[in-house]
Amino acid sequence: MTKNTTVIAIDGAAASGKSTLGRLLAERLGCLYFDTGVMYRAVTSVALQRGISIDDEAAVTALVEHLRIRVTPPTRLDGRQYTVYADGMDVTWAIRQPAVDAVVSIVSAYPGVRQALTIQQREIAAGQDVVMVGRDIGTVVMPDASLKIYLHASVEERAGRRHQEIRARGEEADYEEVLASMRHRDEIDSHRTHAPLRPAGDANLMNTDGLGADEVLTRVLSLLDEP
Ligand code: C5P
Repeated sequence: MTKNTTVIAIDGAAASGKSTLGRLLAERLGCLYFDTGVMYRAVTSVALQRGISIDDEAAVTALVEHLRIRVTPPTRLDGRQYTVYADGMDVTWAIRQPAVDAVVSIVSAYPGVRQALTIQQREIAAGQDVVMVGRDIGTVVMPDASLKIYLHASVEERAGRRHQEIRARGEEADYEEVLASMRHRDEIDSHRTHAPLRPAGDANLMNTDGLGADEVLTRVLSLLDEP
């Protein structure tokens, strides 16, 4: 990493408010916003689509080593924040399907998958200011980040937010199913051997229960102003 670049690491569990905060913060600072979750999701979505067994660690790891994932500004006006390509195919919405939610944590626990994607994430951040969002940005991907934020929120509140997001896209969703899927994912993400979800020792912990996006943004901006 170049010394003079600003890297802001935002980590936290699913729907803790990371993406919204990351996007608003990057907009405010005029720098790149990158959500690393899309990479794990893209690998999972392509594996499912190609009929690769998710339990086949060797096959999934071989896939990630060749798969070209690209994130660009939105190419369509359909509510997307960005467009995600996997080997040239637009997978922006495919990666948000419940089938991906259900197994992405299995894929992201594979060390070979993490190693390959961590390298790509560091390349994306190299030499530019970036707000990077994920589970292990402050602990593993960018341990020298200028500012580290770790967002907390109760699983019920997070499931409620995710449930609303899905319904806002016009898709059917059952709150109890969303809640169960999120609990399951939290459990695997927090207990895996490699890069588990946990705050870095020097992260600023923030509970977003009941807080609006603007309030969270204001708190983070005040941290940036501190000498
Ligand atoms: O953030 P999002 O919910 O889209 O991430 C999907 C999944 O990708 C997470 O549940 C986690 O298993 C994995 N992930 C990860 N490390 C990251 C980002 C996401 O393991 N830095």
